[in-house]
Amino acid sequence: MKTQNASYQSATMPTYARVDLRFLRGEGCFLITDDNKRYLDCVSGIAVNTFGHCHPRLVEALNNQAKMLWHTSNLYRIPEQERLAYRLAKACRLEHVFFCNSGAEANEASVKMARRFHYRKNKKEKMTIICAQGAFHGRTLGMLSATSNPAYREGFGPSVSGFEHVSYGNLNELRNAINEHTAAIMIEPVQGEGGANAAPDGYLEGLREAANEFDALVIADEVQTGMGRTGTLFAFQQSDIQPDIVALAKGLGGGFPVGAVVAREEIGRSMGPGSHGSTFGGNPLAMSVSNCVLDILEEDGFLKHVRDISFYLETALNELAKLFPNQISQIKGLGLLRGIGLRENFLAADLSAALRAQKVLTVPAGLNTLRILPPLIIEKEEVDLLTDALVACLKQKDE
Ligand SMILES: *Cc1c(COP(=O)(O)O)cnc(C)c1O
Repeated sequence: MKTQNASYQSATMPTYARVDLRFLRGEGCFLITDDNKRYLDCVSGIAVNTFGHCHPRLVEALNNQAKMLWHTSNLYRIPEQERLAYRLAKACRLEHVFFCNSGAEANEASVKMARRFHYRKNKKEKMTIICAQGAFHGRTLGMLSATSNPAYREGFGPSVSGFEHVSYGNLNELRNAINEHTAAIMIEPVQGEGGANAAPDGYLEGLREAANEFDALVIADEVQTGMGRTGTLFAFQQSDIQPDIVALAKGLGGGFPVGAVVAREEIGRSMGPGSHGSTFGGNPLAMSVSNCVLDILEEDGFLKHVRDISFYLETALNELAKLFPNQISQIKGLGLLRGIGLRENFLAADLSAALRAQKVLTVPAGLNTLRILPPLIIEKEEVDLLTDALVACLKQKDE
């Protein structure tokens, strides 16, 4: 493995600027390379490994299902899918769930549903989706148009029409943009890729109100914020709103690829047989693992652990911000979706590389925000490892 031919690597399309590390194993919050070096994982595969690596209960759920049945397609009923749909719908206070395999697909389906819902009500003019600047909703042709960063769109031809962008957190701009053509507002309760930006107080409530006024739906893109990441099962639960549609993926399968759209019954009913589909969506393997993810999240005390450890991390980061004011501008985010905002001349990629040298993995969000997304099972000792490594790197930079 170790001396693997470089020509193997050259066969993967160069779509990713990969770090030259090859992990072969994972245990809890740690990843272990092919030459046996242990790294503290504060990325979680970008908010995917909800319970770290190889959690025994997820391993068991996957193995048990693997011995019974892998795939049947949605031509037939899938008991584990029906069970997960029921549980997710209930948890979101919604009624219907569609399963897919990724965040982009979940958002894409959400937009189709929003448009179809109005179409079925004979309001064919309601087509436009209002999105936020700095949003990230995925890489399909449709979601590229929902995602605001033009760099993601370059060279990929004409944009899909019907998407508008307003600045995140600004209710005035939103009110100016919304009108009788608006089908839905699509919003991340905390912008992940955009820099761990939490919605300002009252923003989601104001957005919901504006949507109600114009008979528009609210789509919460909880692909990154969902499944306990922010200390509640869904981030919208920390505000006073009820979304009409919730898009999920990333943490839902704890590392198994899966996505879901949770919607109001009336929206679900507008999607009759044949209106949408996915070959793999909701397959028994993904459903068994995701049901197990939900089991653990719903256990007494688990989300409290997430809130407690989030507070511990936040306190430590705020302390760092005070110690290194020339390098840190602000601490951002919510729960265990955190960002360290860096001063303009300090690139998040450089800090991430310095931390890597200390055997700690992090990921930039934009140029100047370092993102911290540890597994939700992280404990104080591991947060301390992260903090110590940060201190070492920031001191180095000070010198
Ligand atoms: C990652 C992400 C997506 C896209 O998910 P994929 O599984 O990569 O398609 C969409 N929305 C948000 C908020 C995300 O963080």
